[in-house]
Amino acid sequence: MRTILTEPQILDRVAELAQQIAADYQSRPLTIVGVLTGSLIFLADLTRRLTIPHRIGVLQASSYRGRSTQPGDLRVNVELVPDLQGRHVLLVDDILDTGQTIASLVRQIEELDPLSVRTLVLLRKQNRQSVPIAPDYSGFVIPDVFVVGYGMDFNDDYRHIPYLAELDACDIGDASAAGPASRCKPGLPGAPRSAR
Ligand code: 5GP
Ligand code: MG
Repeated sequence: MRTILTEPQILDRVAELAQQIAADYQSRPLTIVGVLTGSLIFLADLTRRLTIPHRIGVLQASSYRGRSTQPGDLRVNVELVPDLQGRHVLLVDDILDTGQTIASLVRQIEELDPLSVRTLVLLRKQNRQSVPIAPDYSGFVIPDVFVVGYGMDFNDDYRHIPYLAELDACDIGDASAAGPASRCKPGLPGAPRSAR
């Protein structure tokens, strides 16, 4: 795995975002809604640095199933979202890739009748967006690679890694793209799962 963003880089940027959000919302009634599961760590770090009072909610959305690195059908569950009437909502997600997830979630949150909805993403992928939606806040622009760590998974693994890394072909199990077989030794980190 190749490190894309170190833990200090991420945490410095999260602190900056928290400052900007506090200045923008001040004493307005704010509910932060995190998108499970990928935004969990980001949400936890952000909320502890946010000096204005706010509520926290979560919803569940997922477009990647199991070992896929290509998005599939979006599944959303808003049952965990608290009452948003009279609240300003900041929707927090890990990555804006095509933009489909955020665009769809904004529409669904708007149906819950909040005072306003804004969006915050930790990462934006370069040259990937197909749905025209501009996040109100974003942390970093990253290259178009599949990333894990800091809450983000591959097949439900790697979420606990405190930094952001690019998975290489061995980690994904695509040995054909990994070059010589010796680069993906069975039993070693980086070996295809089928060989472990
Ligand atoms: P979008 O709907 O914008 O295409 O995709 C956004 C969602 O796909 C994000 O919420 C995130 O869960 C997932 N996603 C997109 N790219 C990556 C990636 O590189 N790594 C991981 N782990 N998830 C990703
Ligand atoms: Mg997600």
